[in-house]
Amino acid sequence: MEKAAGESRSNKAAVQATNDDASASKLSCVKKGYIKDDYVHLFVRRPVRRSPIINRGYFARWATFRQFLNQFLKSNDGGPVKKQILSLGAGFDTTYFQLQDEGKAPHLYVELDFKEVTSKKASIIETSGQLREKISEAASICREKGEVISDNYKLLPVDLRDIQTLNDLISAHMDPSLPTFIIAECVLIYLDPESSRAIVEWASRTFSTSIFFLYEQILPYDAFGQQMIRNLESRGCGLLGIYDTPTLLAKEKLFLDQGWQRAVAWDMMKIYTTFIDSRERQRIERLELFDEFEEWYMMQEHYCVTIAINDTMGLFEDYGFPKDQPVTAASTPVSP
Ligand code: SAH
Repeated sequence: MEKAAGESRSNKAAVQATNDDASASKLSCVKKGYIKDDYVHLFVRRPVRRSPIINRGYFARWATFRQFLNQFLKSNDGGPVKKQILSLGAGFDTTYFQLQDEGKAPHLYVELDFKEVTSKKASIIETSGQLREKISEAASICREKGEVISDNYKLLPVDLRDIQTLNDLISAHMDPSLPTFIIAECVLIYLDPESSRAIVEWASRTFSTSIFFLYEQILPYDAFGQQMIRNLESRGCGLLGIYDTPTLLAKEKLFLDQGWQRAVAWDMMKIYTTFIDSRERQRIERLELFDEFEEWYMMQEHYCVTIAINDTMGLFEDYGFPKDQPVTAASTPVSP
């Protein structure tokens, strides 16, 4: 069938397929011992072995995410506080199931994605005993609707660009007054900039005590950035948002302009060398032969994490990247 004009840069099926890519890469990391995830194999039909640089990149992404998530789950002002997690474009991510095993699962974990993706995930959950046992027996699982609804875990279909439906769904399924950790890992960058801004604004307006964890690409203008964009575009996954937020400062501004109280962005090179636990770094650097240092530095400079904070309840005063490091300081790559 002919593609409609404009569809060639970005099409839904291709963007959804980036999820299969992410799951396959995570499984590759698990098999090499970079990360632990006892569930991701259930979501990968054809396991592949990724190159050391891809494995290391996924490890860095996972380790950073886990560090921030753990910081969130630990934060309280004395007494136990009910907390929740909202994952935007969750794909086949298995964090909920891992947290159950670790005894750290929050009061509620909600995952959103396109219905095509949530239907597949619901069906895999339904047929896997290993996953089923992590959600309550009374859970309602409906593959046709692309839904899993239980007390502690919800998987719901929505097009994130439809803010009205997103808002109605969240009003029906979450209590926005609870401290909330919002995840957007390689999701918003695929949307048109107006939609990303609307989602960031909606999240700020809705969750008054919350952390927004954003992981995605930056620096579109140099040779590496142009190649990265071309590669994804040729697969139908245009990075529609990258020119709107091309730098760390632009990512911070995206949040500050849309009502967030604080926002700090670091690139993954700086995060890898100064934020990720150094023992973990040493451990994974011994796992595989690695000699692609130049490409590694470039790649890591083209990904970043932005942490935005709204803190009405005063839970997150010490939350975030270490404060003594100026945001714009150049990272110091470790010598090979
Ligand atoms: N966050 C997951 C998956 C990333 S792949 C991870 O890090 O592993 C990107 C996901 O975003 C895909 O599952 C895709 O279907 C979803 N996505 C992209 N645009 C979306 C939209 N407009 N509405 C809902 N989900 C979307």
